[in-house]
Amino acid sequence: MPRPLFAHIHIDAMQHNLARARECARGARVWAVVKADAYGHGLARAVRGFADADGLALVEFDYALRLRELGWTRPILMLEGFFDASDLQLMARHGLQGSVHSEEQLAMLAAAQLTAPIDVHLKMNTGMNRLGFTPDTIAHAYARLRAMPQVASITLMTHFANADELAPARLPLAQQLQRFEAGAASINQRLPRSLSNSAALLMHEIDSDWVRPGVMLYGGTPAGSAHGVPAGEFGLLPTMTLRSQLIAVQQIEAGELVGYGSCFEAGARMRIGVVACGYADGYPRHAPHGTPVLVDGVRTGLVGRVSMDMLMVDLSHAPDAGVGSEVTLWGQGLPIDEVALAAGTIGYELMCALAPRVPVSDA
Ligand SMILES: *Cc1c(COP(=O)(O)O)cnc(C)c1O
Repeated sequence: MPRPLFAHIHIDAMQHNLARARECARGARVWAVVKADAYGHGLARAVRGFADADGLALVEFDYALRLRELGWTRPILMLEGFFDASDLQLMARHGLQGSVHSEEQLAMLAAAQLTAPIDVHLKMNTGMNRLGFTPDTIAHAYARLRAMPQVASITLMTHFANADELAPARLPLAQQLQRFEAGAASINQRLPRSLSNSAALLMHEIDSDWVRPGVMLYGGTPAGSAHGVPAGEFGLLPTMTLRSQLIAVQQIEAGELVGYGSCFEAGARMRIGVVACGYADGYPRHAPHGTPVLVDGVRTGLVGRVSMDMLMVDLSHAPDAGVGSEVTLWGQGLPIDEVALAAGTIGYELMCALAPRVPVSDA
């Protein structure tokens, strides 16, 4: 028998979440973001789950080619653009679109001999200071692109830093939009726009030609803070369920200690369940005592430190649980964001960190 730990991917939930994104998109076309192996879900499953998307967006060139091998013929967008001249050749040959965010990329593009012109997404830095041209340099970058025979279409793109903030943000979305409008107005032509990520789509009404939802398609909330909005309230369904089983049960007395570092001490006689899932599977090692876990559908919590291959749970409220009982680490019945919040991270990181040793199925 294989070690009882499996990730189940729910293709129908991916389809459902994409439909939700389309509802929120107010007529804009939808790039389904599939970077990081579709947030840990697998590219082949993304091609099925997001068959209705207008395009797929990612950052890895090998994965982009894999999408073509998988039969994806619609647009593909490289969100970080190209890294060297050979990437440009791949873009021209495989019809990949890409962001242009730096002077270095402009120079590379100008020097490239391409078999076909490429569609570019000119990125504006509206305050995140990660990628892009500032609003006052964007018109110049545009003019240079416009003059290049290597360039087919040009779309204007930016990325929001705080679309998920319910409280007033240090860099409010409205301020980024204002800067975007100023930059766009400095260009003597109305270009198609690509603006919203999941948070902006779910929490703001912004007119755009293209939107770029990622985490919402995987049933994660983009509003990951303690006061955030649970994914379910946005009408999203979990797309990844991580399940294991109890492989041992320990009856311990008051004063006994559990796990590495002996961090947990039983306050009374209790039963401890041992689950075949640890940090080498992608479960967060820093998840503290009490992090929610389902045992036979009953909500209980982690005790002691997460080890490499195992973690322990409190069975005080699951008297019928025994070896072989089903354990849900996250997914259906237990939102991944709740586990992430307890562990001091966000659902995105947990999905993406699912370890290669965990068998994945979509049955
Ligand atoms: C990852 C990414 C997205 C998707 O973000 P989510 O928060 O997962 O919706 C959109 N745009 C860009 C440029 C990205 O890098």
